[in-house]
Amino acid sequence: MSEIQSKPKPKKPRGVARLLEGKCIACGARCQSSCPVNCIEMTDSGEPIIETGKCIGCQKCVKICPSTAIEMFFTAEEQQILAELATSAVPVEEEIDPEAAAIAKTLAEYRGVWVFVEQTEGEPAKVSWELLGAGAGLASSLGVELCALVIGENVEHLCREAFEHGAAKAYLLDAAVYKHYRTEAYVEACCHLIEKYKPEVILMGATGMGRDLAGAIATRVATGLTADCTGLAIDDKRNLMQTRPAFGGNIMATIMCDKYRPQMSTVRPNVMPMPERHEGAEGTIIRDTFVVPEESVLTKVIEIIRDSHSKGAVDITGAEFIISGGRGMMAPENFAILQELADELGGVVGASRSAVDAGWMAGDRQVGQTGKTVRPKIYIACGISGAIQHLVGMQDSDMVIAINRDSGAPIFEVATYGIVGDLFQVVPAITKKIREMKQKA
Ligand SMILES: Cc1cc2nc3c(=O)[nH]c(=O)nc-3n(C[C@H](O)[C@H](O)[C@H](O)COP(=O)(O)OP(=O)(O)OC[C@H]3O[C@@H](n4cnc5c(N)ncnc54)[C@H](O)[C@@H]3O)c2cc1C
Ligand code: SF4
Ligand code: SF4
Repeated sequence: MSEIQSKPKPKKPRGVARLLEGKCIACGARCQSSCPVNCIEMTDSGEPIIETGKCIGCQKCVKICPSTAIEMFFTAEEQQILAELATSAVPVEEEIDPEAAAIAKTLAEYRGVWVFVEQTEGEPAKVSWELLGAGAGLASSLGVELCALVIGENVEHLCREAFEHGAAKAYLLDAAVYKHYRTEAYVEACCHLIEKYKPEVILMGATGMGRDLAGAIATRVATGLTADCTGLAIDDKRNLMQTRPAFGGNIMATIMCDKYRPQMSTVRPNVMPMPERHEGAEGTIIRDTFVVPEESVLTKVIEIIRDSHSKGAVDITGAEFIISGGRGMMAPENFAILQELADELGGVVGASRSAVDAGWMAGDRQVGQTGKTVRPKIYIACGISGAIQHLVGMQDSDMVIAINRDSGAPIFEVATYGIVGDLFQVVPAITKKIREMKQKA
């Protein structure tokens, strides 16, 4: 009886990394940070020392080096195998990068898009529903369920509201310990659910609560977090592309967290459009009984004192008409003409940062990157140049009317209607016209 032995497929040698003398420009240890097996040490002069015995030949340092200072080194024997493989008809067994394989395996365990439903004493924050709208698109691209994460006491009604705003499932933790938001309790609760159900995307409002909670969770579960996103999309590798202003708003950066899960983002209120509400829509509630022991929570809520300043404060984010003034208003008393127009329209007065910094308007009126993001039906910008930091806070308004005496002002680039002229003539004229129209009606 003869035995047929199949010849093992030849393996392609991977080689080891080697530094080319005199080529390193000491770029800041990019090679070191790219190495998955920590086999690169840096000298005091910023050049790498590669421990070849540990090198697995992944070529990451070669690819990342900006000055092609690292090459792959093959022994004479390995070079001979490479030469034979190049001429051989036998298929080469491709070696799988062990690090990439391990990452892919971990990432595959995470599925689903979650939206944290922020609530205070059972009242939901509007941004949660906006995020469900944004999450629906992500879930559809990923082919997964859109889920709500509801934590509080007596908050089951929020699961139903979440279904009406597009969620298919709601994870519910309902217990007395979650009555008031406390970082420790909520972080424990969220991390418990994340570890148990492994979502691949978590969205939270960039509110005081959301910012606090998201940062603490990301640290605990050792993943990435992108704050204040203005755009969210999915790439062809299931990565969340998180777009946000960077470098003071002068560029838009798209950030990805491709090696860790869940991918976490916060989004400011009014950035994403409110989805249509489907009354009576149903979904599945997953009740989890995990309760953080009260004695383990160091923060105690003794009394809730309402902010007395908030009495006179105006929430410009909910307004349908905003008339904003900038440095072109020249003086605080001149904002009275904007208030008159706002009164006629039933709107509120907003401001650019310059006007706020000058002390002409209160900080809660500021629109923009470091102020509020607004999405009114009509935004009237008066004497505002249209710096990018202002535009990111208002450019998604349904209609933008810009009044500026400089026809080259950037605000006209986002304006639906532009009026080139002196605001001190244009604004009172508009107010007068509206009054006349109202009287005739
Ligand atoms: C990190 C960072 C964050 C920032 N965050 C914000 C933010 O959240 N919000 C924000 O607004 N800015 C922000 N800024 C500041 C921003 O860069 C601009 O400096 C600011 O928006 C300019 O305000 P402005 O348009 O009122 O003033 P200016 O740029 O000085 O423009 C005044 C405009 O008024 C016009 N004008 C003057 N007189 C008249 C008149 N009589 N009639 C008609 N038009 C007139 C002028 O032609 C001019 O276009 C930020 C900056 C940085 C670096
Ligand atoms: S080839 Fe890969 S394992 Fe080797 S030194 Fe470079 S990064 Fe590290
Ligand atoms: S990445 Fe290249 S240039 Fe940068 S430190 Fe390493 S070898 Fe030098």
